Amino acid sequence: MENDKHRYQAIIVGGGPAGIATAITLCAKGIHCCVVEAHKTPIRKSGEAIPPNAKPLLKQLGILSLAENKKHTVYYGNKSCWGSDRLEEKEFIADRLGPGFLLDRLHFETQLQNLYKNTNASFYSGFKLKKVVSGEKEVIATIENDAETITLKSSFIVDATGRKASVCRHLGVQKENLDTQFAITFNVKLSSEIPHEISVEATENGWWYVAPFAKNEVTMMFFTLKELIPAKENLKTFLQDELQNTIHLSKTIQNIEIESTKIMPAGTSCLQIPFGKNWLAVGDAAYSFDPISSYGITSALASGFYGGHAVADFLHGKQEALDVYRYVVENAFQAYLHKLIAHYDLEKRWEQSQYWTNRLAVFKSETAS
Ligand SMILES: Cc1cc2nc3c(=O)[nH]c(=O)nc-3n(C[C@H](O)[C@H](O)[C@H](O)COP(=O)(O)OP(=O)(O)OC[C@H]3O[C@@H](n4cnc5c(N)ncnc54)[C@H](O)[C@@H]3O)c2cc1C
Repeated sequence: MENDKHRYQAIIVGGGPAGIATAITLCAKGIHCCVVEAHKTPIRKSGEAIPPNAKPLLKQLGILSLAENKKHTVYYGNKSCWGSDRLEEKEFIADRLGPGFLLDRLHFETQLQNLYKNTNASFYSGFKLKKVVSGEKEVIATIENDAETITLKSSFIVDATGRKASVCRHLGVQKENLDTQFAITFNVKLSSEIPHEISVEATENGWWYVAPFAKNEVTMMFFTLKELIPAKENLKTFLQDELQNTIHLSKTIQNIEIESTKIMPAGTSCLQIPFGKNWLAVGDAAYSFDPISSYGITSALASGFYGGHAVADFLHGKQEALDVYRYVVENAFQAYLHKLIAHYDLEKRWEQSQYWTNRLAVFKSETAS
């Protein structure tokens, strides 16, 4: 007799915010599912800002209390130098929903995974997806760790693998990069304590993002085009020069020692269509957002929530559920693109700059098509 131990109604690949939001939604709807996550224990990821308007979603997902944990801090607002030499402040104090959250991202990922584990549903942590075959009646996913290879069988598979969209790649579905923005990230210790707000400052070759990390420690990110990033041996000088080119940040962040840096894609990308016969993509796997929007984590949770409902409805015979999901997420992505263009359009100080001319050109051609 066939062994049903690894047979599920839905397999979710990826145990980040999107995957866990999908999984807890499916569990709540009575769907027998499992999560496959490549890392044995959560890893620290880039991105920590949750704006106030995410609070209703966190509440609906039942995870507002996780964000209110004292490991995370209050996000009071932004200081931004963008479009002019002036430093503008946006405070959330006046926001009807109050301030947002600056997450301890590692703790947040752990909290989310623990929430899912408490449902007693299956969690293959430390297993990487190796192969997906989509047949007429079922999806077969092969996963492996150092010690074993497991074959999972299911009616449906959810791609929650982040920017790489690994499930889609296995199924031959390509993700399109709309631009070539990359982030160079590093942490530095400062000699004085810094306020709980985020600073953003544009320069000729990109823009800086500085967020509090710990007492006297900040996470710094410089966003630029992939083609403008110098060779490894010149990277620190490049970053020090870019910091010197700022009007405001260079006054508060001085004499820093840049130790290790990470370089990662940080542009906008999307799938042509976020679902197929027996698969659906959520979070960054479906749509990846420019971090200037502070939209990635919220959108990952939202698409996990709505994607989870769509998959449950589909498995209960409602064929149209996946199309409804597509309608909602595609429209949200179009709205994001329009806001993004408007935001980049504000910056006109460096009309000859490769960074600024490139950004507007690629996005405008995308929304025109
Ligand atoms: C530099 C930078 C700054 C950012 N700042 C912010 C910010 O301030 N605010 C904000 O809201 N967003 C921010 N973001 C975006 C945010 O971090 C992402 O949008 C969010 O992590 C997406 O969640 P996800 O669950 O879709 O993907 P991820 O968090 O990437 O999770 C995907 C998971 O899938 C697993 N996985 C991948 N491949 C496989 C495989 N083959 N098999 C098994 N498991 C696999 C991974 O291990 C990972 O845990 C930032 C992003 C970057 C790059």
